[in-house]
Amino acid sequence: MARIVMKFGGTSVADIDRIRNVANRVKKEVDAGNQVAVVVSAMAGTTDQLVNWVNEASPLHDAREYDTVVAAGEQITSGLLALTLQDMGIAARSWLGWQIPFKTDNVHGAARIKEIDTAKMAQRLDENVVCVMAGFQGISEEDNRITTLGRGGSDTSAVALAAALDAERCDIYTDVEGVYTTDPRMVPRARKLDKITYEEMLEMASLGAKVLQTRSVAMAMNHNVRVQVLSSFAEKPGTLVVDEDEIVEKQVVSGIAYSNNEAKITLVGVENTPGVASEIFGPLSAGNINVDMIVQNISEDGLKTDVTFTVPAADLDKAQDVLKAADAVKYDSLIGDSDVVKISVIGVGMRSHAGVAATMFHALAEKGINIHVISTSEIKVSVLIDAAYTELAVRSLHTAYGLDAEE
Ligand code: ASP
Ligand code: MG
Repeated sequence: MARIVMKFGGTSVADIDRIRNVANRVKKEVDAGNQVAVVVSAMAGTTDQLVNWVNEASPLHDAREYDTVVAAGEQITSGLLALTLQDMGIAARSWLGWQIPFKTDNVHGAARIKEIDTAKMAQRLDENVVCVMAGFQGISEEDNRITTLGRGGSDTSAVALAAALDAERCDIYTDVEGVYTTDPRMVPRARKLDKITYEEMLEMASLGAKVLQTRSVAMAMNHNVRVQVLSSFAEKPGTLVVDEDEIVEKQVVSGIAYSNNEAKITLVGVENTPGVASEIFGPLSAGNINVDMIVQNISEDGLKTDVTFTVPAADLDKAQDVLKAADAVKYDSLIGDSDVVKISVIGVGMRSHAGVAATMFHALAEKGINIHVISTSEIKVSVLIDAAYTELAVRSLHTAYGLDAEE
């Protein structure tokens, strides 16, 4: 007998029929003798609707009331699933964040988890009652009010609950069959991965693969929670997110991610003197603008340089304003461009393999794709290219690293 956490996303609980389907999946685990805690999201579209209402009512709203409203979606699903399970003859009870209590700080709208008191829930699980917890929501002790964990936060709720309950695994049910080598809508020959390491998943999630909230992956890694991503509609194993030690055959490259949320800024003709970089990036940092990739070129005479870097696309205008306002920064011209995409190849095997970046550059060169900026980390190589080439680049790289599924 094992204690497990099952989490169901919005599309898995979109209507009563689908909630019945979820209840059947839960029943199977109960019948197999497992103690089951379930974490549910709001029904598909519900949270968006609630957020829209809040914005309509008050564009510059009080974050505490935002949480009061948007946490409601999960409350509905937890009650509906408990009812459906009861009607199937399974002992079940809903749990809201405050009832557990699922304690967070008071940063409303993006609260962080402080502590989960699982004593009462563990007792119910021992009595073989299915505990259906509303994801996404918690309670802040500071102000004794409902909080939410940020969009997509139910994944984090589930992983945190699994860690607190010391569950054997945390199964995240969604509308895709697992984690793929790249976006299957873009590359038909993308393959589902059987296993992926926490670190690789963390990179994939933060680069825009939307299967798991990034925070949930970091939490799983820190607490060593075995996570499985699988489909609530297909009866087959999904992708296990695990520790590196569990993967015998390490891929040099496991996946390819792309992100459109980047913009490029070039300062042309910056003076090549000490302190210039600090003058440029200081004000950006003070303006809370996250700079990611950076390159600096020195002109032939060594007197001037061009500095190119990327910022989140949403911050492009703000970043340009900050630079124009910073009197200490002298340059000939400033060029902003949001028509770019960051493409990354990710794999823990890179640590022990040479030539990963070279393969990437070669594949892109063969297609005549120009690289604007390059950055690397221990398990990732990223390039910034024109957005128009996104699909061609991702497909070519997928082939170049031998990731294509057999036809
Ligand atoms: N319902 C929340 C959202 O859509 C949390 C979640 O589903 O993970 O962001
Ligand atoms: Mg989600």
